[in-house]
Amino acid sequence: TSKQSVTVIGLGPMGRAMVRAYLGKGYDVTVWNRTASRAGELVTEGATLAPSVEAALTANELVVLSMTDYDAVHAVLEQAPHALRGRVVANLSSDTPEKAREAAKWVAGHGGTHLTGGVQCPPSGIGDPDSATFYSGSEEAFERHRAALEVLTGTDFRGEDPGLAALYYQIMMDIFWTGVVSYVHALAVADKHGISAAEFLPYAQSTAASLPNFYAFYAPRIDAGEHPGDVDRLAMGVASVEHIVHTTRDSGIDSTLPGAVLDLFRRAVEDGHAEDSFTSVTDVFRNPVV
Ligand code: NDP
Repeated sequence: TSKQSVTVIGLGPMGRAMVRAYLGKGYDVTVWNRTASRAGELVTEGATLAPSVEAALTANELVVLSMTDYDAVHAVLEQAPHALRGRVVANLSSDTPEKAREAAKWVAGHGGTHLTGGVQCPPSGIGDPDSATFYSGSEEAFERHRAALEVLTGTDFRGEDPGLAALYYQIMMDIFWTGVVSYVHALAVADKHGISAAEFLPYAQSTAASLPNFYAFYAPRIDAGEHPGDVDRLAMGVASVEHIVHTTRDSGIDSTLPGAVLDLFRRAVEDGHAEDSFTSVTDVFRNPVV
């Protein structure tokens, strides 16, 4: 038969959206979840609930995993490791590059192929080709199943190292979390002065919109290992962040977040970077004390 088919294991919000995307494209979808009741609605919509992990793995060559983390993945796959033979496991669960490399070895040891995935959208973005997922691992397996993977999101194959997709995902999330928390911090200060999130929104947006230009300006300098103080000096950066910390404290707001930036800047100054750009803080990052 030419009908396309796939197995999806893990039916959290992400996994459920993935099953629906496949059903919408006419795939035969076999599902499994630790808590079987979560499959109920999906079965009504046309999915087949496998009675065991073994049955779920055996049903299709392509097995999509969407679990909380890799410990959850192992808890499931260890129920039927022998059934991994000949399977391509597209593991779209978030975790560290190191865990992804270990899992790839473990799956290969059982005769299967592990593809690491890092999904860059919420459940609502699944099924949208404008959403994106990083992949890494076997390029041959990726290309063979690319059309099926692209039912979920657009794809961005980063390379053969199974850790790469996880790494790209985590460093993007690094920017995301520190960035959105700085927004919430600024709003807490604003609120103490009677300024609402709605009032501040256009200003927050224009600040965020300026960031890509800063990234582009500093990228070649950082790659060259050069941190000239021609447009910004760290001595100025320390004074600037001190003003933020003081404004925060004067407002009765916790200053941990800008305080951490101030601490990093001061350490860079102590290391002799007062006349360099703030990007010289990278030397502090490269010599971690914690
Ligand atoms: P959930 O944490 O809701 O995924 C839960 C799934 O993992 C369920 O199927 C759950 O089973 C299973 N699970 C957890 N622990 C175990 C275990 N010990 N043994 C067996 N199964 C286990 O996550 P989401 O669906 O929200 O997301 C899935 C992945 O996608 C995560 O890695 C997440 O970081 C990532 N991601 C999520 C985004 C989002 O917006 N939600 C955005 C981008 C990436 P049970 O139902 O039995 O509890």
